[in-house]
Amino acid sequence: MEYFDPAETWSRDALLHAQSVRLRATLDRALRSPFYSRRLKGMDPAEIAGAEDIAKLPFTTKDDVRAAYPWDMAAVPLEELVRLHVSSGTTGVPVAVYHTRDDVETWASLMARCMYMVGIRKNDVFQNIAGYGLFTGGLGIHYGAERLGCLTIPAGTGNTRRQLKLLRDMRVAAIHIIPSYALYLGAMLMDEGVDPRSLPVRIALIGAEPHTEEIRQRIEYLLGVKAYNSYGLSEMNGPGVAFECLAQNGLHVWEDAYIAEIVDPESGRPVAEGETGELVMTTLIRRGMPLLRYRTRDLTRFLPGACACGRRHRRIDRILGRVDDMFIIKGCNIYPLQIEHILMSFPEVGGTYLIILEQADNMDQIRIQVEIREEYFIEDMRALQGLQRKIAARIRDEILVTPKIDLVEPKSLPRAEGKARRVEDRRLILK
Ligand code: AMP
Ligand code: ZN
Repeated sequence: MEYFDPAETWSRDALLHAQSVRLRATLDRALRSPFYSRRLKGMDPAEIAGAEDIAKLPFTTKDDVRAAYPWDMAAVPLEELVRLHVSSGTTGVPVAVYHTRDDVETWASLMARCMYMVGIRKNDVFQNIAGYGLFTGGLGIHYGAERLGCLTIPAGTGNTRRQLKLLRDMRVAAIHIIPSYALYLGAMLMDEGVDPRSLPVRIALIGAEPHTEEIRQRIEYLLGVKAYNSYGLSEMNGPGVAFECLAQNGLHVWEDAYIAEIVDPESGRPVAEGETGELVMTTLIRRGMPLLRYRTRDLTRFLPGACACGRRHRRIDRILGRVDDMFIIKGCNIYPLQIEHILMSFPEVGGTYLIILEQADNMDQIRIQVEIREEYFIEDMRALQGLQRKIAARIRDEILVTPKIDLVEPKSLPRAEGKARRVEDRRLILK
């Protein structure tokens, strides 16, 4: 087994020791920011002897980071900062994250480590099919690929034909792409009768939005690649936080750079080992903007056991949903991924769907528009109605509410080039 960075194979003891030393240094640095000097007022930093004391620190939430906009989280003077990313999410209130030159370097190294882990080498050509600009999946992945030494193509999104031409002409071995766009690209190849195995691409890094194992398998099939799950968030730099290894069984969180905890989203207390909860992350290396116990709102769990790849950094399960994604219909708590999981188990279903929450006769209901694959759409009415009923029944078994299913033509649902929007809430909010 080959590793990019010796830290990948540190023992648990070595990792815990590094975490303790780095947490204390992070605390000292954080206290230089206006935000943490207020938040931690009255706290004696000596109370934090090591990583095991982390729960003595308060949480930091997205609202905290928003309220600190633009400068209150900066732990170094402006002249030391070289990069700013802003993530607006769905509400539009900005979250700003600033990086020093060292921060950009360590981020690139973490990213290069992820890419090397899944078999990308410096003689591979890499095409980054992701939005450049404020989205961290552009520059973050780009710097990682260059750090590894790959010839790196900043292709951006859109213009699918030019993307394909570049893939072929440059003999691209690996790409980075958002799952929803990967499905679109795959559908286009199929429409045009292109055998994906005739393309040079071996590896796809997919991430930035929640997706199920079924979607991964579809992407692997449609593009003729191995697809690896890439997890990150702007507040923790962006990509390079947790990443799948060749085993494709959970994502290693880089514990020399972050402390990960999983807590009950309601109480904030740690969940029992292996239980699902909200991921909470602390930066250990970042200088420009240290973040302590950041509530990611992402739901996952630690996977048990050691990984065959030799890395001792703990693995998390693929993101199982977001605390904010949950919606309640007729008293049932529902996550969109539960629905996706079932939809994708039907071979007739295409890559796109839209969950609409609406009201009919003063009752909430779920309507799901489901794209059907070209070859099935020509089926007779009776077959389609049967499919509709089967999908509705399987979803009702899972979420306990019967949805209305609309089967729609291939490519008729809106497609985003960035992160896909899967749920539209059309219910009247009575004030
Ligand atoms: P942003 O900082 O705006 O790029 O968004 C980060 C968020 O995207 C995370 O908090 C997750 O909710 C989501 N995300 C990123 N990567 C993944 C992934 N591999 N699987 C599921 N969700 C992801
Ligand atoms: Zn592994």
